[in-house]
Amino acid sequence: METCCEAEFGLTHGPVSAPWSVCFICICFFSEFLVLFGMVFPVLSAIEFFVILIDSITKGSVEMKRNREKNFTKLLCGSLLAAVICFCAGCGRTVKYTSANTAMGTFVYQTVYTSGEDVTADVTGLINGLEQDTLSWRIAESEIARINARTGSGEGFVLSDNLRADLEVLREVSERSNGAFDITMHPVVELWNIDAWAAGQGVVPMQQTVAGAGEIQDNQPSDGATSIILPDQKQVTQALSHTGYEEITIENNTLYLPAEMSLDLGAAGKGIACDEIAEFLKESKVSGAVISVGGSVLTYGRKPDGMPWQVAIVNPLDTATQLGTLSLTGEWFVSTSGDYERYVEVDGIRYHHILDPATGYPATSGVRSVTIVCDSGILSDALSTACFVLGVEDGMELAESYGVRALFVDEAGRIFMTESMRGIFEEAGEQ
Ligand code: ADP
Ligand code: MG
Repeated sequence: METCCEAEFGLTHGPVSAPWSVCFICICFFSEFLVLFGMVFPVLSAIEFFVILIDSITKGSVEMKRNREKNFTKLLCGSLLAAVICFCAGCGRTVKYTSANTAMGTFVYQTVYTSGEDVTADVTGLINGLEQDTLSWRIAESEIARINARTGSGEGFVLSDNLRADLEVLREVSERSNGAFDITMHPVVELWNIDAWAAGQGVVPMQQTVAGAGEIQDNQPSDGATSIILPDQKQVTQALSHTGYEEITIENNTLYLPAEMSLDLGAAGKGIACDEIAEFLKESKVSGAVISVGGSVLTYGRKPDGMPWQVAIVNPLDTATQLGTLSLTGEWFVSTSGDYERYVEVDGIRYHHILDPATGYPATSGVRSVTIVCDSGILSDALSTACFVLGVEDGMELAESYGVRALFVDEAGRIFMTESMRGIFEEAGEQ
């Protein structure tokens, strides 16, 4: 879901234009040379200074005293020169790269400051790899798809260390949210098929429209041309009977799922990707970055100008506008769950993609969006979904219990936030 973006996204692609690149390379070579010179110079001065100092102590002449002063001045100037040059050379080598593309079925925007290579393609590759190898239930070879294929066989599935750790975090969110967050909602998620509808698939000609309890109805869609097949109550109840996070058993790294059950990590996948990106950046020469994977954003390191990262929050009541911005310094994970990106409207009712495990229907907690900020990607993503289902009161309690920053927007556009969020959030229009 496209909910957050860095305020400065959408600038240039790649580092700098051609003439500037040539200039930049020249400056780099020159500064490398100067750094060497600047380092050698004070070292030689220091050696000379100490030789003369020892000499003057042993001999004590007026001549030696003068030499000592002269060399001390040389040493001081050399050190200062070296410091200035090192500083300038360091600054000159930081390059900004930006990229905008798609991965995990969503938009990925990156702004990266680095003294090394452009890593934006590696980051995109990392997200795609995570989806293909681990998270996607649609890709047969992924770990989740292979788990789902073994459902009910009685045969356990040996988990990778990473997925096992993720499942533990998610199970705790399920427990602490009283089941509002539940990765076994997959059969119901597939039944509703919201993602496909929102992408314009699964839409049928209006005379075939089935709504309510399965009867054919003269359901006049607003555009008069096509409509949507909504699941009926019986189907929802049936699908819901194959859910329940308590049914997942993990023994010695082996996971067991009862028959008909399956997993969907869609509510935490983008956050997990942000966690992995942060680990990858730590191994790189990146000094600062802000990367958004749909509604999950990672801020990392610092901007060259020392200013905080600005992450915009979309106004869920008018998605063309911003609700406000978050100012963040260093490594943070921001996730927003809202009802405004992937949804369809039938007869004036909005069917969105965040389901209430208690009913099997899109959550109707009175909340339009929830933003969570914390030091873990998987937690920020899972908690934003959980809090959306719980609503303002219970959601706020859950957020407080985890010690994360939370911001809720309700149907009337009212904003509710934790005390900790107040310090970093500035509402649009406020100064
Ligand atoms: P997005 O993925 O668009 O950022 P969320 O993080 O809120 O939004 O996750 C929504 C996705 O999670 C749905 O598309 C569905 O796959 C799954 N899902 C829906 N409801 C729940 C729920 N109550 N608990 C866990 N997963 C859910
Ligand atoms: Mg989520």
